[in-house]
Amino acid sequence: MRPFTYNALPGRIVFGAGRRSEIASEADALGLRRVMVVADENAKADADELVDLLDDRVVTRWHEVAQHVPTELADAARQAATDHEIDGIVTVGGGSTTGLGKAIALVRDAPIVAVPTTYAGSEMTPIYGLTGEHKETGRDLRVLPRAVVYDPELTVDLPVAVTTTSAFNAIAHSVEALYGPDANPITSLMAQDAIGVLTAALPRLNADPHDVDLRSDLLYGAYLAGAVLAAVGMALHHKVCHVLGGSFGLVHGDVNAVVLPHVVAYNAKGAPEAIDRVGSAMDVADPAAALFDLAAAVGAPVSLESLGMPHEGLDEAARRAVSETTFNPTTVDEPSIRRLLEAAWRGQRPWEQHKSSERTPTPKPEGERRHE
Ligand code: NAD
Repeated sequence: MRPFTYNALPGRIVFGAGRRSEIASEADALGLRRVMVVADENAKADADELVDLLDDRVVTRWHEVAQHVPTELADAARQAATDHEIDGIVTVGGGSTTGLGKAIALVRDAPIVAVPTTYAGSEMTPIYGLTGEHKETGRDLRVLPRAVVYDPELTVDLPVAVTTTSAFNAIAHSVEALYGPDANPITSLMAQDAIGVLTAALPRLNADPHDVDLRSDLLYGAYLAGAVLAAVGMALHHKVCHVLGGSFGLVHGDVNAVVLPHVVAYNAKGAPEAIDRVGSAMDVADPAAALFDLAAAVGAPVSLESLGMPHEGLDEAARRAVSETTFNPTTVDEPSIRRLLEAAWRGQRPWEQHKSSERTPTPKPEGERRHE
């Protein structure tokens, strides 16, 4: 066993269908008496139910949410938190909603109880992001939700398009956790399991997106993925998505689905063991191609062009992604990342770009594959 360091984070997970009914006792366990509920319009019905359960613990509600947490929005929500003298925050929604809750918690002594309704994983991390001219991120334990209530019933109506792309976001956290700077045996177990659960569950969406068992698997994978994102530093994929989302206004989840197969192909050289584990988790020989095929099969986007990325922006995106990438197992340089972005823009199947890769993934013993 190689030496390793693992910074385990505190947190309480309440997982299971119907367990949102326990929200008031979760608030009480943290001593919350003046709660702000943050939820966007799409999560309003779910938030209404939680507000009823929280009863007079709720002193104010906030509905305006935007991707990547614009600073003006954060300032307005923080002002409302001050005006109502809140002592706690309940977020009900996806990563954008959790992100706004974090922006408030960063400047106010108010713990978060997160109730996620997508698979982005922000609820498990002490990472926050704020977007002025460009997106800035940081880490602070004050923004790490103190309790997370995962109730798959809240995700059955999540539109298929958001389901697939936020699940790809979760797969991306897990892939990069396998080779990130603080990767360790514990988080790698979690990451490999997450990739297996998520990639096995996604194709079942086509049959019945409302299936609670399917939604439970996706949410469990999302939890594992968020947990490893919190503990392991990320690499090229996250920087590319950060640049494309923060500077070109593309939707975070969409970008993840398009970019991930290309980064997996790119990193096969520098992190062969990690990419083998991705292949083992998916039970495939070429995980880059398999991820591309999976995205196509579930109707997720496969080209940056289809997302409205201007072709003339690729040079700047490559330049910024390279300058922001502080760690990656395969060396990054502008011409290589520009080529990667070109392939992603055109929606090319990634093995076509990386035919030189001749590795054979670690075979998985018969019967070991779970979650199928
Ligand atoms: P999102 O929160 O923007 O939600 C996507 C869409 O789904 C929104 O329109 C939302 O209203 C809708 N939606 C959410 N739940 C729904 C439901 N149950 N039913 C119907 N509609 C629903 O997107 P996301 O992918 O969850 O999160 C992306 C954001 O999270 C990005 O800004 C990203 O940077 C951030 N993020 C942060 C971290 C972190 O650790 N800080 C981790 C992952 C993602």
